[in-house]
Amino acid sequence: MNVSLDDKKKTLLTKLKEQGITDEIVLEVIADIPREDFIPDFLRSQAYENAALPIESEQTISQPYIVAYMTQELRVTKNHKVLEIGTGSGYQAAVLAKLCKRLFTIERHMPLFKGAEEMFKKLRLYNITTLFGNGMKGWKEQQPFDRIMVTAAGEEIPDELLYQLKDGGIMIIPVGAQDETQHVVRITRNGDDFDVKTLLPVKFVPLLSGIVHSS
Ligand code: SAH
Repeated sequence: MNVSLDDKKKTLLTKLKEQGITDEIVLEVIADIPREDFIPDFLRSQAYENAALPIESEQTISQPYIVAYMTQELRVTKNHKVLEIGTGSGYQAAVLAKLCKRLFTIERHMPLFKGAEEMFKKLRLYNITTLFGNGMKGWKEQQPFDRIMVTAAGEEIPDELLYQLKDGGIMIIPVGAQDETQHVVRITRNGDDFDVKTLLPVKFVPLLSGIVHSS
């Protein structure tokens, strides 16, 4: 029997709650955004499996639990200006855009950048501003940000990003090399100090410098 995407979505949401996603607003947004539209057509039936999936340019859309977890840990509110590094499919950006005032997102692969821009238009997410470039440098013209989320793993935390956070601002970033265990880290800016808390072990594609014009 074919289980509908809607039923699969309900099962996924129950699973996310069991795994500790307690923020009702985050759960509502995940229920609202059609993940099936952000992945290649042939994977459509797997859209609500709790798994990372391949997208263009050899990148991945994160596992729904990781998206929910990182979003919950970022503690976004409706008055926030948020920066995301690593637009990819655009899914995480869409989730954040529903929770904040304005979402800025940077991608270094042109095909992904173009695809995500189309999705934002299709879903009428007019509070998202996109940039094709190297997100390790952040977005000088738009700083400072209340929140920053990096969705690719850095071997180190880029200094330029830290200083684009507002005082009291929070950044979530996976840290670690590809051949070691990476962890999601939450950084809170406290004047010129940064409080660092190590959270969950994860596996992310690498944060790389430079830009790529083709797939
Ligand atoms: N948030 C995405 C996850 C995509 S995977 C989603 O919801 O689908 C991580 C993405 O980060 C990839 O698309 C990769 O190309 C991008 N990336 C890696 N290093 C980057 C950098 N320095 N600047 C901008 N994007 C980067």
